[in-house]
Amino acid sequence: MIPIFKIFEGIFNTPKGPKCDECQSVLIDSNCPNMDCPIKIASWVVQWASTEAANIPILNSSIALKLAKLNLIIHPADIYELSESDWLQLPEINKIKYKDLTRFLEASKNMTPESLLYGFRIKGVDYPIAKDLANKFSAISQLRVVKIEKLITVGSLSEGTAFAVRQWFRDSFNKRMLKILDAQGFKLD
Ligand SMILES: [Zn+2]
Repeated sequence: MIPIFKIFEGIFNTPKGPKCDECQSVLIDSNCPNMDCPIKIASWVVQWASTEAANIPILNSSIALKLAKLNLIIHPADIYELSESDWLQLPEINKIKYKDLTRFLEASKNMTPESLLYGFRIKGVDYPIAKDLANKFSAISQLRVVKIEKLITVGSLSEGTAFAVRQWFRDSFNKRMLKILDAQGFKLD
């Protein structure tokens, strides 16, 4: 039996407010706080697939959401590790489309540093800022160890965004993603 005080605790501590349509987490500032939320994963993958980033037009939001819901991906680098049979689980992908898709996936491995930076979806880094960052730091590997003092010399970068950039490269989740990209032949150095 559940002790009576536990029931009251449950009633009073349940956070209230609008919930995420997908994972039912209570939204914080209209954003889903759940890192594993399929909607979050899909929206990151859609940004990754955009023309400014990896340019994979076949990979739309519906496909990205299905991949996330099937637990096949948790970040954009995972799409490079999917097998043909993984892709063919999706009704949108047939053998011909799969061939087309692999062509785009292969081509995206030549992404420029600014496209990569935009695709990383770092808070505050839109495409123009990604370009400014890439002009200052010619290789992604330079940003892995960069100091705040050096980041804020990029004119368009606010202090908050500079901290977000440093934090992004220190995060173990993102480090794992970079490791996969590195192994897939992306140019990070
Ligand atoms: Zn969610």
